[in-house]
Amino acid sequence: MRLIVHNMLQCHVKGCDSNNFPLQLSDVELEIHEIEYNHEFLQSLLTKLDWKAFVATAEQIGITSLPQTFPEEIDEDFLKKLHRILFETHIVEGKMICSNCSHEYPIRDGIPNMLLNEEELE
Ligand SMILES: [Zn+2]
Repeated sequence: MRLIVHNMLQCHVKGCDSNNFPLQLSDVELEIHEIEYNHEFLQSLLTKLDWKAFVATAEQIGITSLPQTFPEEIDEDFLKKLHRILFETHIVEGKMICSNCSHEYPIRDGIPNMLLNEEELE
């Protein structure tokens, strides 16, 4: 699971509708898979990215080089760094924990399991 995907996930347990994003990462195992850099694609995604959540998440996996607020001027080096973190860094094992209700969503073989138990469904 790439970090761009994590940035779009929130807890969906019944009644859990505040402080349910971003999910906290724990016990993660990372892999880097290089893909071609696409400037336009990255730029279009940046408008949808929740920057604050992204920075907090990156810190959880040891990436502390991102600015707390999105820089006003960005250069190609910065975009390449984002490309690396958003698209090439994969979480292959671990779990995501909701800050609000503590529900754990496991990640196995790179795939997040967002399924809930019956009593957690709406
Ligand atoms: Zn929750």
